[in-house]
Order: sequence, then C-alpha cells, then structure tokens
Amino acid sequence: MDSFFKDLRSEFPILSRKIYGKDLVYLDNGATTQKPRRVVEKIENGYYYSNANIHRGVHYLSQRATEAHEAARERVGRFINADSASEIIFTRGTTESINLVAFSFGEAFCKEGDEIVVSVMEHHSNIVPWQMLCERKKMSLKVIPMNDRGEILLDEYKALLNPKVRLVAITHVSNVIGTINPVKEMIALAHAAGIKVLVDGAQSVPHIRLDVKAIDADFLAFSGHKIYGPTGIGVLYGKAELLNQIPPYQGGGEMIDQVHFEKTTYNVLPYKFEAGTPDFIGSIALSEALDFVDEIGIERIEAYEKSLLEYATMELMKIDGMRIIGTAADKSAVLSFLLGNIHPFDVGTLLDHLGIAVRIGHHCAQPLIERLGIDGTVRASFALYNTFEEVDVLVKALKRIQTMF
Ligand code: PLP
Repeated sequence: MDSFFKDLRSEFPILSRKIYGKDLVYLDNGATTQKPRRVVEKIENGYYYSNANIHRGVHYLSQRATEAHEAARERVGRFINADSASEIIFTRGTTESINLVAFSFGEAFCKEGDEIVVSVMEHHSNIVPWQMLCERKKMSLKVIPMNDRGEILLDEYKALLNPKVRLVAITHVSNVIGTINPVKEMIALAHAAGIKVLVDGAQSVPHIRLDVKAIDADFLAFSGHKIYGPTGIGVLYGKAELLNQIPPYQGGGEMIDQVHFEKTTYNVLPYKFEAGTPDFIGSIALSEALDFVDEIGIERIEAYEKSLLEYATMELMKIDGMRIIGTAADKSAVLSFLLGNIHPFDVGTLLDHLGIAVRIGHHCAQPLIERLGIDGTVRASFALYNTFEEVDVLVKALKRIQTMF
C-alpha cells in the first residue's frame, strides 16, 4: 500500500523541493494540501484556452465554460451524495459557507431568546459567525463539552437539545486533536428534537467518506484547498427544502430573477446564493481534484492515513516527555503534541530548519486550547502523499531537538 501512495508523490512537484537544503517533509495538510499537476493544469488551461464568463453568454466560450462549471457542481454533488446539484452552492470556502448559513438561516428561523449549539472543539469559523448571529438577534450560544481524551460528551449534548435551540453546528473532525465526532448519531438526536444541523466538513471531506444522505446533514461546509483543489473555492451543501426557505446572503448579479426599483425577485437554487461572477476556474479545478481522490478511492486514502497516524502516534510516544494532545478512540489524520516543556514555537521553528513543515499555536481553536489548559500544540497533519519514512524523519528530528534543550 505504501508504494502506491509513494508513487503518487511525483504528481506533486512541490514535494521534491529542498528547504534549507533538506528534503521537504510537508506535514501541514490540515492547513492546506498540496496540488497534483492535473489540478494546476486545469487552472492553467482554463485561463489559457477556456476563459469566458459563465451564464448569460451566447458565445461559444461562455457556453463551454458554463457547461464545465455546472458539470463541476454535479461532480461535487456526486462526491457527497447530494440529491441534486442545485443543493451545491459554490462559496470561497468553509468559512464563507458557515457565514452564509449563519446569516440566511438566522434571518429566516431565529429570534430573540433562541439558542445555537456548537462544540468546544470548533474552529473559529464555526464559532464567530454564530456569535455574530447571537449578537444580532439577542440569542445565546451553548457549548457541548468534551472529556479529557477529546471526545464529545453525548449525555451533555442531549441535555442541551431543548425547544429554544434552532441549530447545532458541529465539526466532523477536529483540526487540532483529530477527533472524529459521531455526527450521524448527533444529527439523529437533534432531528428527534426538531433541530437542524450544520456539519463542518473542512477536515473530514478530504479524509473520510462523507455521505450527506447517510448522515442526514441539513448543511455541510467544506473547502477545496484542503482536498487537493485550489484556494478560493468551497462548498455549501444544503437540503433544497431548507435552502428554499432562507433568504439570499449577498445581493448582485446572478442571484436575481427580475430587478426593478420597486421590487426585485430572486433566482432559483443554487444561483440565489451565488451573487456575482463565481470562481468558474476554481470549480472545474476542484472537480478535477475530486476525480483525483475518487480514482484512488477515499476509503483507500482513509485506511492509508489511519495507518500513518497509528505509526506516528506509536513512534512519537517512544520519545521521552512526549505528550499526545487528543487521544479519542476515533481519530483522523491529525496529530497534536507537546514535547516536554519546550514551547511549540521553538519546536516548530527547529523542525522548519530541518525541512519539516508543521503548524504550531492554537490552530484557530482558542476555546479548545483553553479547555485543554495549554498554550498551544505542535500539529502534524497527514495527507495521502505522506510516507512512513517522513514519520521517521519527524521522530528523529524531535529526538534531536530534545537533546538541544
Ligand atoms: N473548519 C475547520 C475544522 C478547519 O480546520 C478550517 C480550516 O483550517 C476551517 C473550518 C476554515 O476553512 P477555510 O479557511 O478554508 O474557510
């Protein structure tokens, strides 16, 4: 299995770069993934040979670009098993997708005194838009706690589900501690109480199978750049019946049906939520990235990354003074740790000088870091092109850093 994934590395030119004279070991995939040649070529060819603004164009190039953009929408729909492509809204990324729901769902369904429920392990982009909604509408934000391993406390979650709750917004996979939350069960519990659920799939869609129908998600948000696609394009999935009931997020071209100074009417789904020229080069490149992932098979990627995570966890634990942060029973390709009393900033900087790219700090999840009672972590996050040898390089480097302190 290892050699299959190793062979794929040649598709990613950046992986053969040297950093300070050392082979690059890129372990910052939670922040963004590298792009295979075929994705970059889609972007390049898009701009060189197919560029024309989509929709409304009568000319050849515009019509072909429109077809490609709409085919990309279909592609995304199939990837997450949506009922229809009209349930796929292109956004700039997870953050914009969540902001869209916080605004539009908030306008349609929320009022003073209502509640939104999030978990303690959310990324800031699944906290702050809800805080802004709460401020706007005089509502409150409730927080699902976790245990010391980093697992959601389901009993506490159930206790939060009362008639005032309008929506639960929960991450599928934590970007800091890698916990895979039981979203299917959590959604079923929320639905039993008549509550809608948004799943933040930023860290799950690139690594594990996510079928919106199987888990019955009402909304799902994810980013193209974390799944080998380009930056600046992301997805909001929403059930059509819900999207039809909530107002547009932004106004402008594309999202309208008729515009008159007396009254404007809005377009149908998904265009109602896509004001302005969309990133039609980004969408086709994202579609190419999803083809790349599907040709390998997400289950195969998941199994490989799991074996990498298990190996890395085992090897890191052999290092004196190593503390793994987040030890949930079910984890995805993220490994946070602390090395003795050495500050994560020092670990990250020294690893960088050895060619190893990790992320350090609060990882845009300050409330989680506070709950853990620490200042931050060092985070290694894996993708399909990482190897067992790279884990060995990381372990060796950490041992070396330890001797320096
Ligand atoms: N949610 C989670 C769990 C994330 O890890 C991230 C990014 O790291 C985001 C949301 C925000 O994604 P983006 O910056 O692509 O909008």
